[in-house]
Amino acid sequence: MALATMDEARHVLAERFGYASFRPGQEALVEAVLEGRDVLGVMPTGAGKSLCYQVPGVAAHGMALVVSPLVSLMGDQVRSLLDAGVRGAYLNSTLTPGQQGTVMRRALEGAYDVMYVAPERLADPRFTDFAAQADIALVAVDEAHCVSQWGQDFRPSYLAVGDFIATLPARPPVCALTATATGRVRADITRLLGLRDPLVLVTGFDRPNLGFAVERLEPKRKIARIAARALASPAESGIVYCSTRKDVERVHEALVAAGVPATRYHAGLAKEERAANQRAFIDDDAPVMVATNAFGMGIDKSNVRYVIHHNLPGSMEAYYQEAGRAGRDGEPSECLLLWSDGDISTCRFFIEQESGNEELTPEEADAVRATRRRMLETMVGYCYTVDCLRGYILRYFGEPAEGGCGNCGNCTGGVEAVDVTAEARAVMRCVHELRGRFGKGIVADVLRGHASDRVEELGLSACGCFGDLAEGAPAGPAGTPLPAAVPAARIREVVELLAAGGYLVVTEGTYPTVQLGPRFREAAEPGFSLAM
Ligand code: ADP
Ligand code: ZN
Repeated sequence: MALATMDEARHVLAERFGYASFRPGQEALVEAVLEGRDVLGVMPTGAGKSLCYQVPGVAAHGMALVVSPLVSLMGDQVRSLLDAGVRGAYLNSTLTPGQQGTVMRRALEGAYDVMYVAPERLADPRFTDFAAQADIALVAVDEAHCVSQWGQDFRPSYLAVGDFIATLPARPPVCALTATATGRVRADITRLLGLRDPLVLVTGFDRPNLGFAVERLEPKRKIARIAARALASPAESGIVYCSTRKDVERVHEALVAAGVPATRYHAGLAKEERAANQRAFIDDDAPVMVATNAFGMGIDKSNVRYVIHHNLPGSMEAYYQEAGRAGRDGEPSECLLLWSDGDISTCRFFIEQESGNEELTPEEADAVRATRRRMLETMVGYCYTVDCLRGYILRYFGEPAEGGCGNCGNCTGGVEAVDVTAEARAVMRCVHELRGRFGKGIVADVLRGHASDRVEELGLSACGCFGDLAEGAPAGPAGTPLPAAVPAARIREVVELLAAGGYLVVTEGTYPTVQLGPRFREAAEPGFSLAM
């Protein structure tokens, strides 16, 4: 028997939440949950994931138990539920044991429709005893990607969620939700939460009014590029994201000097100044905001006409979330990513340096680093791709995309694809022969037949691939001799491109290395080709 009918759900949606209709993804998820089916919903931030469990929680007999890692937000979430007349509560370490006891007692009396809990709570016998007696209509798992080591925010405490669900006496439907889930993460969510034949729904990632573009620029030319865009329509609102506070200061100062009405935001500013600058931006007194990624959470400014990234973000997730702050009103808006080679090294350096989350064992921390490396490579792939940028984004998030969008830099700019298959094969052979022990510089020197001191010292001028991309080597079209050695910069680019495709892995740090990646064998197959 259904937990409630869709008519009842629509009634709750209108009466309590004040919305005329479900968004398409919500409708399908709510319907499945009400029929008792497990679901996995992948939707971007702002798509409206919360309603997918709040509405069933209200409509059904019994409550929605929501597992959420965002302890600091639970209070706000519950307060807005209460404002809407929905009976909500939360249970986490900010409550005293006495308060927790009261909440559980009231829950057993049927006082709540929606109850939030932190994952740590699920292993507490006091809580499991309570849950065994409570009337739980459904379990919602928010930020479900936290259960996977292959996701960006792995939390060991999430591993307890699956066991908890399995031990509930009447196994209720489970509604797992996330904004970020690659195929591997989705498989992990299904397996580790013990979802049964879930309805998997990926929706809402496409933003047709956003025009994407990527430009590779020398660092010193980036600010002029940003100033030119801002001054082309000075009244328009835009956000410029920088990766460090120092860059925010530098870029902001230069933009103001160029006459751009800009303000700034980063965690190093005093609270009052942050608030004042944010206000100035929202009110269009300072239409351009230069900020670190600390800016934007919970800011709902609809008329942002462009988002420019001054540096390369660490993942497609981060990029799309930040870029997606443009054009909330549906009007045409631009998302421009500026990048330089140095950005990639900086990101890699951060990944290796990161001491990480203290909850993690060394093995888990290694897995997280490996994940971050892969996420960065996908981001680099976006910079290099000659295909439709929107298609690249949508496919990354698991939404089907075919053909060009006609509204991105690659669809409209007529980028000339350069075939670099021969260079790529040479690089792969070289990395294989050098057994992943050296960095990009050595790989380039060896391939170009450049007997530098370092190359001689390591005895590498004797290796088989030495000079494979030197002048006269048979690596030109159809095996013709190269008229000149392939430039070192091009070889480095090909290395990056191969890393983006998973054929190589590049590490940065005290001993930078280029190693074979998980897909290295595919690069040796006859059909392999690479363009940039
Ligand atoms: P998410 O959890 O996916 O980031 P939220 O649940 O916070 O998104 O919802 C984002 C915004 O969309 C909220 O302001 C919410 O009120 C609004 N919203 C959600 N569903 C609907 C709907 N069916 N109709 C109109 N607005 C909606
Ligand atoms: Zn396109």
